[in-house]
Formats: sequence, C-alpha cells, structure tokens
Amino acid sequence: MSTTASQVLRDDLRAFAGYQSARKSQQQGHIFLNANESPFASDDWTREQWRHYPSQQPLALIERLAALYGCAKEQLLATRGSDEAIDVLVRAFCEPGGSAIVTAPPVFGMYAVCAKLHGTRVVEIPAQDKANGWHSDLPKMVAATREAGASLMFVCSPGNPTGEGVHAEALRGAARALQGHALLVVDAAYAEFQDEVSAQCLLAEFDNVVILRTLSKAHALAAARIGVAIASPEIIQILSRVQAPYPLAAPAVEAALTALSEAQVTANAGQVAMVRESREQLQDELRQLACVRKVYPSQGNFSLVRFADAQAAFDALLTAGIVVRDFRATPGLENALRITVGTPEQNALVILSLAALGDS
Ligand SMILES: *Cc1c(COP(=O)(O)O)cnc(C)c1O
Repeated sequence: MSTTASQVLRDDLRAFAGYQSARKSQQQGHIFLNANESPFASDDWTREQWRHYPSQQPLALIERLAALYGCAKEQLLATRGSDEAIDVLVRAFCEPGGSAIVTAPPVFGMYAVCAKLHGTRVVEIPAQDKANGWHSDLPKMVAATREAGASLMFVCSPGNPTGEGVHAEALRGAARALQGHALLVVDAAYAEFQDEVSAQCLLAEFDNVVILRTLSKAHALAAARIGVAIASPEIIQILSRVQAPYPLAAPAVEAALTALSEAQVTANAGQVAMVRESREQLQDELRQLACVRKVYPSQGNFSLVRFADAQAAFDALLTAGIVVRDFRATPGLENALRITVGTPEQNALVILSLAALGDS
C-alpha cells in the first residue's frame, strides 16, 4: 500500500481490526442469542426493533446520505455528529501522545479539543484578518504540516466563526502538496449556505481528502447527532475500525430518515435559500448601526460582528432575550460576537435591540 492514508495511519493500528461486535457476525440465523439482548420488547410494540443493537452503519441511512451528498456508499461513514468524525480521524491518524494537527484559528474548537485529549500537538497558523474578510493561509498551513510531520490539516470552510469560504482551487493546491504526507480535512458543516459548490469534487482527484458534513445545521437535526465523513473507501474502512461499534441510536436514525424524505429535503432547500437572503439583509442592516465596527462577509448561517462595545451589545441583546455567541475570550476577537441568522422576526429584533446603542 502506498496511499497517503496508509502512510499516515498509526503504525500500531495497521493490523487492528476494531471491536468485533455481535452485530457484525455474518451468521444467517433468525433467533439471535449472541448479544445478550432482552428477549422481550418493551411494552410499546412499535419499538420491537429497538430490542436489538443497531448495525454500526445502518444501510437505509447510509444509502440516503450517499444520495443526499452525491457519493458512493463506500465513501461515506455516518458518525455521531461530525464531532465524532473529527475524534475518529484524530485517533486513527495521530499517534497517542504524539504527531500533530494543523489548524487556522479563530476556528471551530473541536479539532484542538480532540487533539489535546489524545495528547497530540496543535500547530496553529492564524487566519489573517483582511479588509475583505478572513483568509486562511493554506500554503503556510501546508508548509507547517509538512514541517511538523502532522497527520491532519483541518480547513473549516465555510469557516466557523469567521464565515470565510475557502476557494476550491486553494483546497486543490493544498491536497496536492499534502499527498504522501498528510490528510486534508475540509469541515464543510455549513456547505449548504455557501455560494460555491462544495469541495467534494476533490475526492475524485486525491486520495488524501476527507470532507465532513452534518445534518445539524442546514437540515435542522442537531439533536439527532448525525454527521458524515466522506473520503476514499480506504480511509472510510480505517475510520470504521476505530469508530464505536454502535454509534448511531435507532431513534436518531429513524428521525433522520424521516427528516430526509424528498419532500423534507426540498422544503429544507427553500429554508436554506431564505436564510442566505436574510443573512445578506441582516448584514446590511448591522453595518448601518452606530455600535457596529465591522461585519465580516459570511458563507455560513451566521455573522461575525465587531462592536464598539461588545459587552453593551451582548447585554442589549440579552435584555431582549436574545443569546448570541460571545467570542471575547478568543485572541483577536476581543470585541466580537457571532450572531446566527434567525427567523425574519428574530432578525428584526436583533437590529431593534442594537439600534439604541451608541458608537463608543
Ligand atoms: C456545528 C459544527 C460541527 C459539529 O456538527 P455536529 O455534526 O453537530 O457534531 C462541526 N464543524 C463545525 C465547523 C461546526 O460549526
């Protein structure tokens, strides 16, 4: 094997098969006494199927997700939210207590959390705060990845909290430069809200790209905890050996299948279009407020906003019952809040609540 994944895979996991659950057994019986499940269903007989452990990757869900994301079943791993995908990536490809990952802060915190819990170093190449928005420096990140011998380079696009949309060309350059060295993980949790189509086309060209998607944001299903990693079948195989044996609870899978009906997906696309429109309107209105210093362009369903007095802005919103994400503890974002796009009524209330604040 000479693929990038096989080069980056932990040495001690090369022969590791993962937990051999009862559910994986290929026996063709109809009375299953191999998993210590209860022989009796709960009183609610509609829940008879919940008596058994679920399969690690329930076929109906995998087929639906593969259709939704336009990839082959073998290219997709369903995970307990994309949070689990991040964790499994770190555990499969970084040596415990060693190796490194590369990120571009300010960025989603779970990459660093998973790395820290694994004893893996986090190399940070800060994104640059430019007049036209945030820019992750991918060539510099690539250089740092190769220099540190890092296994994973995380690019969040659309960026949370920056709103940055990294162009496919920049991602392509990074994937190429990392071949044989590291995996490029593109966290596309907000891809539905983006102008440019997703980075998934890179999968056809490179063996070292992993795309993360989730049902938590655009699909309004955060409580079901379902995300996916999309990558080469080889990478998916490796990740499934590291993943928990029964990560997806049956009620969550059922909820997801209901929420992913053709009709729901169509309705959902309409809502995403509305959020994108509202985002632009909200940004225009925010920019006209005296208390606002800067509104970053955003490819997500949120805006990162700098205020003259972030505390006053936070308090004014809270007085109206509106809770936004406070980023003041993040270096470089001491005067910033992240505001998710709400319903038109909620957005109007945001503007109204901030309108009375002054410019200092
Ligand atoms: C919300 C979010 C996730 C986590 O999604 P889950 O699927 O709910 O775990 C991953 N990445 C980014 C950038 C996010 O903002």
